[in-house]
Amino acid sequence: MKRILVIGAGFAGLWSALSAARKLDELHHGADEAEVAIVNPAPFHSVRVRNYEQPLDPTLVQLDTVLGPAGVKLIQAKATDIDSANRRVCIERDGATEALDYDRLILAAGSVLVRPPIPGLERFSFDVDTYAGACKLQAHLLTLPALPDTPGRYTAVVVGAGLTGIELAAELPSRLREIVADDDRGKVRVVLADRSTHIAHAMGGAQPVIEGALKTLDVDTRAGVSLESLDAQGVTLTDGATSERIEAATVVWCGGMHANALAGQLPVTLDPLGRVPVDAFLRAEGVPGVFAAGDCARILIDGTRPSVMSCQHGRPMGRYAGNNAVCDLFGMEMLPLSIDWYTTICDLGPWGAVYTEGWDRKLVSEGETAKATKRTINGERIYPPRTGVREDIFRAAAPVVQTPPPTQRNPTQREDPR
Ligand SMILES: Cc1cc2nc3c(=O)[nH]c(=O)nc-3n(C[C@H](O)[C@H](O)[C@H](O)COP(=O)(O)OP(=O)(O)OC[C@H]3O[C@@H](n4cnc5c(N)ncnc54)[C@H](O)[C@@H]3O)c2cc1C
Repeated sequence: MKRILVIGAGFAGLWSALSAARKLDELHHGADEAEVAIVNPAPFHSVRVRNYEQPLDPTLVQLDTVLGPAGVKLIQAKATDIDSANRRVCIERDGATEALDYDRLILAAGSVLVRPPIPGLERFSFDVDTYAGACKLQAHLLTLPALPDTPGRYTAVVVGAGLTGIELAAELPSRLREIVADDDRGKVRVVLADRSTHIAHAMGGAQPVIEGALKTLDVDTRAGVSLESLDAQGVTLTDGATSERIEAATVVWCGGMHANALAGQLPVTLDPLGRVPVDAFLRAEGVPGVFAAGDCARILIDGTRPSVMSCQHGRPMGRYAGNNAVCDLFGMEMLPLSIDWYTTICDLGPWGAVYTEGWDRKLVSEGETAKATKRTINGERIYPPRTGVREDIFRAAAPVVQTPPPTQRNPTQREDPR
């Protein structure tokens, strides 16, 4: 029996597995001929992009509810080694090591938060990189009212103003105010710090809108500063010449992502983000039998630009990788992936959101209009069908490129003033 093995059940891995199962079904290859198996440490698919939100329960999809109807086998384990020469993957399950042979492998183990060796970072910072990290942050916030009344008890510093840091900072004032006693609401303070000269510097036409929204939400911003150190009482930021001390019981590190270390086990030259270079068919360059998708992989998404670590790219990469792994296995023509649009939708908490189009991030909508689109994306578009119906799941797993998320265009559109 042939085996298509997928590592990781995030956006790329889940859709890889479902797409491979769909293609096998279409080709009428039965379970005695070929199987699709997916290795993932948790029994759930985490809608990771929602980790800045509360509550977190709706961000989990139990894998058996989606994989079961599709006939995909879930192996709840952690992949530890890839031996691409012998087409074998080692996994750790319940403390024991096992080897799994494969005919085609799809590496979709995602990415991890970059953690530079900043004093105190490992010990004192929180993150929203994973479901577990986001739960830990919320559990900590709930303890704040019981802590001694120090100056930084209700101060949260978010370090890193990429999309994740902005989305979290925009949510935190209201999240903290919900937790603290009425008399203490005035003590809530949220600071967003970044080493770039402008907060949201890469957001094109949306940059001034984001700055304005953060101001309305009472988020203090610090641009042009790096995190020097942190301890149990707060952080020290530096612009290289002077330092600023901020007392804070909560520090959240949002310092960027790096591909999963498993990518480094393939005999390829990784890109600066640690990603495996793949061709238009999602094949790992120069590694027979191996495909890669999502944050682990770097594809030229429109033929010229590298993919972005995002679910926007990870999901279609998965749908094509799964389809192509089956086609490759059975000697059929594969489909090249090419996406000619790019959008960014950044949540700005109670203020709303911003929606931009294109690689230069032209502002399309803002406020409640963009928020309605963000809600649809976060609550529906990026979820697998939850009907439990095999046909629904296979329809969603077809290797096609979706159109951009529809949005109403706001009447007033601003250009990037810079
Ligand atoms: C707070 C936050 C907000 C974000 N917002 C957006 C957004 O608005 N839009 C957007 O497009 N992107 C956003 N992103 C980025 C997006 O979440 C990632 O790009 C996306 O999750 C990548 O999908 P993936 O499948 O490659 O990896 P992941 O979703 O990380 O999934 C990887 C899977 O592999 C599993 N895995 C890891 N190691 C192993 C192993 N050794 N063995 C087996 N399994 C393993 C993991 O447990 C996980 O299930 C955001 C990220 C964060 C953290």
